[in-house]
Parts: sequence; C-alpha cells; structure tokens
Amino acid sequence: MDFTFSAEHEQVRDTVRRFAETEIAPLVRDAEESERFPKDVFLRWGELGLLGVRYPVEDGGSGFDKIADCIVREELSRVSQGFASAWSAHTHLALWPIWRAGTPDQRARYFEPGLRGERIGGFALSEPDGGSDIRAMRTRAQAVPGGFRITGSKLYITNAPCADFLTVAARTRPELTPDAVSLFLVDLPCPGVDVHKLEKEGIRASETGLIHFDEVFVPEEALLGGKLGTYPIIIDSLSENRVGVAANCIGIARGAFEAATRYARERQVRGQSIGRFQAIAHKLADMAADIEAAKWLVYYGAWRVDQGTIDAATASKVKLVASECAVRVTEAAIRILGGAGIMREFPVGRFHRDALVYVIGEGTSEIQRNIIARSLEL
Ligand SMILES: Cc1cc2nc3c(=O)[nH]c(=O)nc-3n(C[C@H](O)[C@H](O)[C@H](O)COP(=O)(O)OP(=O)(O)OC[C@H]3O[C@@H](n4cnc5c(N)ncnc54)[C@H](O)[C@@H]3O)c2cc1C
Repeated sequence: MDFTFSAEHEQVRDTVRRFAETEIAPLVRDAEESERFPKDVFLRWGELGLLGVRYPVEDGGSGFDKIADCIVREELSRVSQGFASAWSAHTHLALWPIWRAGTPDQRARYFEPGLRGERIGGFALSEPDGGSDIRAMRTRAQAVPGGFRITGSKLYITNAPCADFLTVAARTRPELTPDAVSLFLVDLPCPGVDVHKLEKEGIRASETGLIHFDEVFVPEEALLGGKLGTYPIIIDSLSENRVGVAANCIGIARGAFEAATRYARERQVRGQSIGRFQAIAHKLADMAADIEAAKWLVYYGAWRVDQGTIDAATASKVKLVASECAVRVTEAAIRILGGAGIMREFPVGRFHRDALVYVIGEGTSEIQRNIIARSLEL
C-alpha cells in the first residue's frame, strides 16, 4: 500500500493539536479531579466543526474521511482521553444512528443541535448482565397506545450524567435476535429515568452513569427512524468504531511516550540524564517501535474503512494491537518516571488508567481475540 497523509490531513492534525494543547490541556486537571465534564467544550467543538468530522457537508458535517477522524481522535487523546471519550460517545455513538436512520424531525431535534454542541448525547447499549454479550439484553420497550414503555437498566454509559438525550437500545420482542432490538431517543431529564453518576479510575474527566428506566413512557416519535429493528445499524458501525477507538489508543500511548522522553532527557541521576542509561533508552526504543507499528496498522484500518473494505476480523486486530500497545507503553512510561510516575503532577499515571479502559470498551481484548479466531476457521 502506498500511503501518505494528504496536505489536508496534516492541516487537520496541526489544527486539532494546537486546539487540544491550548484549550483542552488547561481544563484537564480540574475535570479529572472533580470528575465533571465542562459542557461548554461541546459548543467550542461545534464551532470548530469537530463534532461533524465524519458527516457529509450537505448534512451539516465537515465531510472528512476516516483517516481524518482518526487524526482528530489521536490528537485529542494525546492530551486527554476523558475529553476524547466524551466527544466520541456523543458524535460517534449517540449521533451516528440518528444520521443513518433518523426521520427529518429526529434529525432536526437531535442530530443538528448535536453537531453544534447545543445538545449532548449518550449511547446506552451495555447493561449490568450484558456488556460483552448483547444477547443478554433485558431492557424492554413495550408497545402501548401512543408509544412505548421502557423498563430496564443500562450500565457504564458515557456522558449520561451530563447528557440532554440518550440513544437507547431496547428489545421490542422477546426473541434473541438482533432485529428484535430497536433504538429510542429519550430526552433528559425524563420522569421515570434515574441517572446515577459512577466514580471511575479511568477517563475521569468524562462522566459515566448507571441508568434505570422504570416504565418510562416515550411517544411513537421516539422510535428511531419510526420503525422497529434499527439495531443492525449499530452492528454495521462496530468495525469502524473499533478502528476509531484504536486511534484514541495511539494518542494515549503517544502522550505517555512524549512525557517519558522529556523526563528521560531532564532527570539527572549520577551526573547524567537517565536517558543515557541503556536500560531506559531501550525501554524508550521499544515504546517508539511499538507505537509506530500500531499506528500504521490503525491508519491501514482507517484506509480500509474509507475504501469500504473493512471486515470484522481486521477491525478487531487493529483494536487489539493498539489498545494493548497503549497499556504496555503507558506502564513503561510510569516505570521510566520512577516515583514521579506515581504522582498526579505528571500525566503518565492518568494515561495508564485511561489506556486500561480501552482494553475493555468497544469490546474487550478477549472478545477481539474471539472474533479474530473465528476468522481463522480452526
Ligand atoms: C469507562 C467506560 C465507558 C463505557 N461507555 C459505554 C457507553 O457509552 N455505552 C455503552 O453502551 N457501553 C459503554 N461501556 C461498556 C463497555 O462496552 C463494556 O464494559 C464492555 O463491553 C465489557 O462488558 P462488561 O463490562 O459487562 O464485561 P463482561 O462482559 O462482564 O466481561 C468480563 C470479563 O469476561 C470476559 N469475557 C466476557 N465474555 C467473554 C467471551 N465470550 N469469551 C472470553 N472472555 C469473555 C471479558 O473479556 C472480561 O475480561 C463503557 C465501559 C467503560 C468501562
């Protein structure tokens, strides 16, 4: 494959890096400590067109390809995965199905203000008994006159505590088939919907919730696309999302690697910088090689998405390699910093906690291995 980034891609990278370093970085410490996401950032993302990266210009988006989307993710995550998670849960998970299947009215109420950052969304799929296993989903939407009644619980939902609406997956029939699952748009706050904010070890700047739906009435207009069985839209976007999350992992790894390299140059022990000890230099060399290998696999995956040829096993390989790389690199960064690696004054501990979220979210490493192994027809 002959691949280089275009001038437009490089421009996207420069712009987002500058924005992340000047406007996001100063907010990170406070958001992490308070575990509160500064919601105004969504308006700023909207102004800059960053919420519409993956949507066509004619629909109000910025009209970029998957490679550009991965560049945006990488640069946001290099500064803060908490902020990048809030961004992607909204613009990719919550808005995507509305763009794909929403009625004109649903697009006007959720997608368009969502692109401007005026309304924040969350995507509620995972449940207490069904994270890796979608077939275990228990949340039900029962048809009643004029609409549906939703009952059930959703767990670990990014943005839920600060969201204005949720895209919610629920069963409309008892069978265990994906087409029996539909998506509903639920405005928040809403009578019968209880959102409990969770305390986390990773991506603390993003807010995560446990949600209970107690016989919540939603009108017929809340059913996405006005028709049952819209769940396959989610299945369709899984591979693309996994490539996207892998780009986030490269950003996390780069953030930690850069911090460790700076430290290795500056920290003096026995009259020399620690980077001059071969043990430290080799660690940094391994980290650099690890990131480089994972990065090009991610951009190969993004290119396959743009060509329309991505398959589930390739997307799983991309996600597995990049997320495990981020865990290795961020742990090595802590070791290089010694005691400073454990202190909050330095970002490497945060990068490591955040990397661990991504060997779990969007399908755990074990689930990725299952998918890859299936493709081997053993
Ligand atoms: C910070 C955070 C934010 C999240 N945001 C969202 C969100 O916005 N929306 C949303 O819907 N979900 C979200 N999730 C949920 C996430 O997708 C799930 O946590 C993930 O899919 C794993 O599900 P689980 O936690 O129930 O783990 P489990 O499914 O209980 O897995 C536990 C362990 O068992 C292993 N395991 C399970 N099944 C198999 C199998 N078949 N073969 C081998 N091993 C297996 C897993 O790999 C894991 O090691 C978020 C999670 C986190 C941590």
